[in-house]
Amino acid sequence: MSTQFHPPLRTLMGPGPSDVSPRVLQALARPCIGHLDPQFIALMDDIKALLQYAFQTKNALTLPISAPGSAGMEACFVNLLEAGDKAIVCQNGVFGARMKENVERCGATAVMVEDRWGEAVDPQKLEDALKQHQDAKLVAFVHAETSTGAQSDAKTLCALATKHGCLSIVDTVTSLGGTEVAVDDWGADAVYAGTQKCLSCVPGISPVTFSERAVAAIKARSTKVQSWFLDMELVMGYWGGASKRAYHHTAPVNALYALHESLLILKEEGLENAWQRHQQNHLALAAGLECLGISFVVPEKSRLPQLNNVTIPAGIDDALVRKTLLERYSLEIGAGLGDLAGKVWRIGLMGFASKQENVLLCLNALDNVLIELGANHQPGEAAATAARAYLVPNQKLEVFEN
Ligand SMILES: *Cc1c(COP(=O)(O)O)cnc(C)c1O
Repeated sequence: MSTQFHPPLRTLMGPGPSDVSPRVLQALARPCIGHLDPQFIALMDDIKALLQYAFQTKNALTLPISAPGSAGMEACFVNLLEAGDKAIVCQNGVFGARMKENVERCGATAVMVEDRWGEAVDPQKLEDALKQHQDAKLVAFVHAETSTGAQSDAKTLCALATKHGCLSIVDTVTSLGGTEVAVDDWGADAVYAGTQKCLSCVPGISPVTFSERAVAAIKARSTKVQSWFLDMELVMGYWGGASKRAYHHTAPVNALYALHESLLILKEEGLENAWQRHQQNHLALAAGLECLGISFVVPEKSRLPQLNNVTIPAGIDDALVRKTLLERYSLEIGAGLGDLAGKVWRIGLMGFASKQENVLLCLNALDNVLIELGANHQPGEAAATAARAYLVPNQKLEVFEN
């Protein structure tokens, strides 16, 4: 057994975790202090304000859950649903299925609205379901489906939920920091995210935010939330605004230093600049992939710039390519999930990893490996084409260092 673990230096271009900024890693290594230390309490206030910025919300109940994105998902469902309730779940990929599982474990009924994997959620289908199920309490959907690379129109879907008297739960795990998340403008009620995707922080924390309507629904419950740890009324005692902070659980102190640093980086760059950077790198990657004969699964209008879901060329061994990229280039790209396993690669350009050098590395690596496996494209053309895509006239190249 090894007496120390030294992880290899990878470039993480999969569906998450993404490359963590050195600034975030340095923050993580700072001295641990007590989680009720006045200085830590001040940091908690800063984190809350930065999360409100990232989510574009004034919601008072905005905080990081001390557990991964899946716990943020669960927190939304267990707090808003009681046994016997009905929820409409829009599913267009893997994570919608997990929402269904959450609804059912609350003792509630899930009405499924299904769309093809790789397509955005169809608002018309949701509206039909809302008309047919007027007793539904909430609507849940995934804004950025990491399993397929498709983004749905959150504003329209949330507005439909509100119009029909439903609360909305929105998964923004992969969108936050990569594409626009506008919680107040959408009118979303419960929104959760993750730290390890476009925030480029270490995995294991889930920012969440609840609207006043959601808080009122939690307060009006007739039964206790079945999860003690995720019961927002109890968590509020620790993270709550004016009231004195009371011990609920020991906050992951150092992980919260890391989250704070990653949110500062986002604020320094600015939300709009971060979205634009993700879009620019996506377009360059797409231009290069075309030279390799690799096409996108998702129609252009709903493609996620941070998660590029592309079809594996015919006759190419999926696992062999990913293994070679990892061993030879220390580069990780993602495999297909669920129905898409073996058929697609998911190339992430998330947060700190969304940069020109990664686009060029990935294209050159794929170019080489595919040629070795018998592909007949023009070697070197993919990276050259991507490099030219950065030189579009009138487009200012933003260089963001952190
Ligand atoms: C990654 C992801 C999750 C789960 O987050 P974990 O931190 O892995 O628990 C949930 N939803 C979506 C859309 C994701 O991409």
